[in-house]
Amino acid sequence: MPLIAVATLGGTISMAPVAGSGGAVPRLGAADLLGGLGDLPMDVLAETLAGIGSASMDFATLLRCRAWGLRQDADGFVVVQGTDTLEETAYFLELVWPSEMPVVVTGAMRNAGLLSPDGPANLRNALTVAADPRSRGRGVLVTLNDDVHAARWVRKAHSSHLEAFSSAPAGPLGMVVENAVHWFHPSPPRLPALAGADFTGLVPVVEAGLDDSGAMLAHAASHPEVRGVVVAATGVGHVSSGTADEISRLVSRMPVVVASRTGAGPTLRSTYGFHGSESSLIEMGVTMAGWLDVRKARILLHTLLASGADRAAIEREFRARGDLG
Ligand code: ASP
Repeated sequence: MPLIAVATLGGTISMAPVAGSGGAVPRLGAADLLGGLGDLPMDVLAETLAGIGSASMDFATLLRCRAWGLRQDADGFVVVQGTDTLEETAYFLELVWPSEMPVVVTGAMRNAGLLSPDGPANLRNALTVAADPRSRGRGVLVTLNDDVHAARWVRKAHSSHLEAFSSAPAGPLGMVVENAVHWFHPSPPRLPALAGADFTGLVPVVEAGLDDSGAMLAHAASHPEVRGVVVAATGVGHVSSGTADEISRLVSRMPVVVASRTGAGPTLRSTYGFHGSESSLIEMGVTMAGWLDVRKARILLHTLLASGADRAAIEREFRARGDLG
């Protein structure tokens, strides 16, 4: 039987209401979560590595999780955490996971105290995906509500629905049906893992929008610990002329990545020419995120900075990972 390692980090899947606490809180560890699944067609080696709401997830916890997973010499690795930052965890692990061993991230939208909690089925599906030999070499996958997503595309697109995760416009890679994975698409070849080591410092996201003088960007970037900035630009990668002025000053001091705040569709390169347009920002020296959304752009930029990447390497990596054209 395949051996699957399971690390639990907390999240709704591990939560149940506690009297006096105002609602559900993390209570269930790895043994509790797996205990409810009955007989399994795989050996499971499980550990509770954290018990937190995923808004508190950080690089240090994920690096600990990565190291634990790599040590187990298993056939697959399941990571269980809250759904709120699950897409960032999945993408971060995708960037730094050096092995062919599949990683499957899952969680739940309904805690154990609600009617029809989805945690047990999601965890069972994650084990199925992790144990499937065809998952090898696909990098980091996400499964919730029977869908199997690539870390590269998946995002939480609804705050409360069971069908909260979307890979639009690429679509899910597959689906779990009767404890088997039905693959719809092959995965593209993986890029080499990044070696992020020094995650100190800050990489803020500053959103462009109406009545935007550029002062918010200037203020955020003035913090001494800021190493780079992601601008959540409007549309295809546009900012106000005030923010464009600010970017032109900032870009000599630190990397500035421009992603689309729309959450769908790529940044462009050469369609508009006004001050603050994508082509004017590229001319100033920004890096465009391409198809990577704002959150994934932040994770990639921080991981590249943590790996000691210079400007040329940042530009190259964003083109390789974000620009599909
Ligand atoms: N707030 C929870 C968390 O991310 C939500 C969830 O798990 O779905 O930990």
